[in-house]
Amino acid sequence: MRLPIITANWKMHKTVKDSLQFAEEFIGMLGEDRKGIEIVICPPFTALYSLGERLRGTGIEAGAQDMFWEEWGAYTGEISPGMLLETGAKYVIIGHSERRYVLGEDDTAVNRKVKRALASGLCPIMCVGETLAEREEGRAVSVVRRQLEEGLKGVELLRPHLVIAYEPVWAIGTGVNASPQDAQEMSRLIRDELGSLFGVEVAQEMRILYGGSVNPGNIGGFVAQPDIDGALVGGASLEARSLADIVKQTEESVYGS
Ligand code: PEP
Repeated sequence: MRLPIITANWKMHKTVKDSLQFAEEFIGMLGEDRKGIEIVICPPFTALYSLGERLRGTGIEAGAQDMFWEEWGAYTGEISPGMLLETGAKYVIIGHSERRYVLGEDDTAVNRKVKRALASGLCPIMCVGETLAEREEGRAVSVVRRQLEEGLKGVELLRPHLVIAYEPVWAIGTGVNASPQDAQEMSRLIRDELGSLFGVEVAQEMRILYGGSVNPGNIGGFVAQPDIDGALVGGASLEARSLADIVKQTEESVYGS
């Protein structure tokens, strides 16, 4: 069985102080009696080290929201995989739609980042997903397939150390989520595509997340789907209560109450 993951993407929210306050509340709310759900929190770079230190030993991981594909050099404003590893981060989100569509990141950049993250020992959470116009034009499947093929070009995987997040762009931060059935259909297609890239055995072990207006009320329907192994959560991860409820609902849906 694939271990479900709930990943919080805080985007450009929370200072160091806010992050530490969140951690205190969240750890208290989760309590001791936890079932097998991996939890990853991705704060802004500035809070990564302090949050990572506070989370050490709690079973909750810290992750980054992006990284650059070189290790050192004249790349003003960028952060390297080695710098992330030094903070204790284990995961890194790559190719989030806000980076693709607001900041102009293309499939080639995504591919470089994924390869470098893997080579450095970070686990990439690579995001794919179609825009509303692409869906309305009937191109959702071809867009997601292209993002997978281009983003994973030349990637060799012997073990499933890579997570894919299916995030339809029209569902991110809008309050309009995809239906669990539509998300499952796309996740199935993603798993098939991963099978042709890495072999069926590795693809069966790889985790696929859904992202787009996930909240405590709808998470259960997503993680009940056979090819959806968790969620990437933006807005609803900013409050400790709401993230803790998402984790609880995931536990109930996957393991029963
Ligand atoms: C995200 O940031 O990846 C996301 C899915 O945001 P939200 O949950 O707010 O839609």
